[in-house]
Amino acid sequence: AKTKRIDKILSNMGYGARKDIKNILRKGRVKVDGKIIKSGSMHVNPYEELIEVDGEKLVYKEFIYIMMNKPQDVISASFDKRVKTVIDLLEEKYKIFDPFPVGRLDKDTEGLLLLTNDGKLAHELLSPKKHVPKTYFACIEGMVTKEDIFKFKEGVTLEDGYKTKPAELHIIKSEDISEIELIIYEGKFHQVKRMFESVGKEVIYLKRITMGGVKLDESLELGEYREISEKELEKLK
Ligand code: URA
Repeated sequence: AKTKRIDKILSNMGYGARKDIKNILRKGRVKVDGKIIKSGSMHVNPYEELIEVDGEKLVYKEFIYIMMNKPQDVISASFDKRVKTVIDLLEEKYKIFDPFPVGRLDKDTEGLLLLTNDGKLAHELLSPKKHVPKTYFACIEGMVTKEDIFKFKEGVTLEDGYKTKPAELHIIKSEDISEIELIIYEGKFHQVKRMFESVGKEVIYLKRITMGGVKLDESLELGEYREISEKELEKLK
């Protein structure tokens, strides 16, 4: 059974800043299994012990699901000594859930990144067997052609010999710098960049816009995030 400090649990559930929670506890407003608890450091299992605040039962939530519009220069890892990570961007009230990024976006890639502490869902979204679609918007140096659409549909061979699964390429603009959307159903390291390399082109801007039926909320500025809705969660499951 996993226990957490009662002050962390309360903070987790939105009972305010450390100072507020201290106050709530000090005033004797919190009970665990019927007993008033005043110490924030007490460890409680929120699933097995009844926590009440002002006599109201606290319904603890275990999982958190966040969508972030990942900016460039922030890495999609949990910890790094030197570089800012996507976790560093989160407010404390979300960090307390120990979320981690579902898969990776390159340092210079922007857009939709899901963060959760639901290992099972993350595993399913990333499993090669599930073929979860991911849509990317990209700017490409050079003219993207119908030929490229065909090649991506057939699968291209990357420099390490891997042949990609069928992918859907849509040309938005074919000019000196082209704009495209690409849907892939797998997630190899640097996949989009390497697919374009295989047809002699370079990705100069990359942004993920969907993952498994969930679309990046366009109202989120770079670096912003929000919890996903029940409806969005349904689409991921
Ligand atoms: N493909 C890439 O090349 N980079 C990403 O960040 C995601 C997909």
